[in-house]
Amino acid sequence: MRTLVVDHPLVTHKLTALRDAGSDTATFRSLTAELVTLLAYEATREMRVQPVSVTTPVGIARGVKLARPVPLIVPVLRAGIGMLDGMTRLLPMADVGFVGLRRDEESLIASTYADRLPTDLTNRDTFVLDPMLATGGTLATVIGMLVARGAASVTAICLLAAPEGLRRVEEAFATDGTGGDPDAAPGGSAAPWVRVVTAAVDERLNERGYIVPGLGDAGDRLFGRI
Ligand code: URA
Repeated sequence: MRTLVVDHPLVTHKLTALRDAGSDTATFRSLTAELVTLLAYEATREMRVQPVSVTTPVGIARGVKLARPVPLIVPVLRAGIGMLDGMTRLLPMADVGFVGLRRDEESLIASTYADRLPTDLTNRDTFVLDPMLATGGTLATVIGMLVARGAASVTAICLLAAPEGLRRVEEAFATDGTGGDPDAAPGGSAAPWVRVVTAAVDERLNERGYIVPGLGDAGDRLFGRI
């Protein structure tokens, strides 16, 4: 697994405003969408493309188009929904699947309550949206579901990550060294790419499993405390 911390002044500027406890819901929502679009720009850097030619008013230009099947975006309910708009701005052609996991507040263990994913993800680039990579339990479960269905790549986009969560996902999806290249893998079958793209890695988790200094409960800040 690879981790990319996007080091860009605009990303840090928006993340800082997002962390601010004084940012209201409307501001938090729009900042989230903007930040996701910036992270998605980096997260889609290695998407599969195929060569095409187009006729311009003055000649033929060689270029590329995104390979088929179209990518799959997977927001993790509920807070991941707040990231969907920013992601589909960049990938309007993508399909969207949904996964819901509930975290037990005592044990911090996640269990699945919704699974609306295609059964076959062969040759598909997939993008998981989960704002807070905290213990890593939720993300490891969702990545596991996508890998089990044959995804060509799994890229998780998280606004923030804790070192504990990154370690857990890294342990679960240590690469085989091929980076998902079937030609490089022994016997021709490769593990898919697994990556995490985030705006920052914070200090630690607190005893309630919240990222410190973090930004609080992302779901509550996006959708209110219900
Ligand atoms: N989920 C959140 O919304 N915030 C955290 O800090 C950790 C998990």
